[in-house]
Amino acid sequence: MDKKMMKALCGTCGIETNCEVIISESSRSDGDYEYPDEVVLLVTKCLGCNKCTVSRVTICDSDMYFDENGKLVCPQTTKIIYPKYYNKNISREKFIESFKTKIEELDSCCPSEILLILRECLYAYEFRLNTLSTVGLRMIVDSVCQEKEKSGEIPKAKRDDLLEKGYINKEQKAILEKIVDYGNDAAHKFNPLKNNDIEICFDVIEILLKNIYHLPKIKNKLPESKRNKR
Ligand SMILES: [Zn+2]
Repeated sequence: MDKKMMKALCGTCGIETNCEVIISESSRSDGDYEYPDEVVLLVTKCLGCNKCTVSRVTICDSDMYFDENGKLVCPQTTKIIYPKYYNKNISREKFIESFKTKIEELDSCCPSEILLILRECLYAYEFRLNTLSTVGLRMIVDSVCQEKEKSGEIPKAKRDDLLEKGYINKEQKAILEKIVDYGNDAAHKFNPLKNNDIEICFDVIEILLKNIYHLPKIKNKLPESKRNKR
């Protein structure tokens, strides 16, 4: 028997992928308007990661409409039941919204050319372009090095020099090296990071930019301490 295939949200990859349909069981409700008219229990197996996803798809007849070409559109709501940690991915939109606010906050201290890449990188993630986003994260690290070289604060646009001049510590440098490696993998081996890891890297970038550009400004804004003049 032929395997049935469909595009479905993979709970592991966090994006729509080509999936094999293992179970697709539909049941229609008896017209109680508190409940959706159709509930589909869907078990799919992702052809990318080979993992299964269990989801509950609900369809309300009242939400259906005809588009401008006269084609019937049935909006569906998909809730991932398994894997459990997919909940993290559902909060993707929330993460993006809150990170946009963080970028606004960085606007007052961070060079605009760096923020431009950061914004593009977040847009890429918002549109599920994880490969571009992974490459973009690497570009941000590079752009910080280049900005510091341009302003004459480090001799060469190198991460080693950021460490040497005390802009980052060893721990932070080790994380930046990872981000650079991920970017290279995405660019050369087309191997993007998964949502959760991308979000962690965004957080790392925020901490990096705050440390390098925001902290010195805060220091200048704070009143002189009277007791311990250093
Ligand atoms: Zn998958």
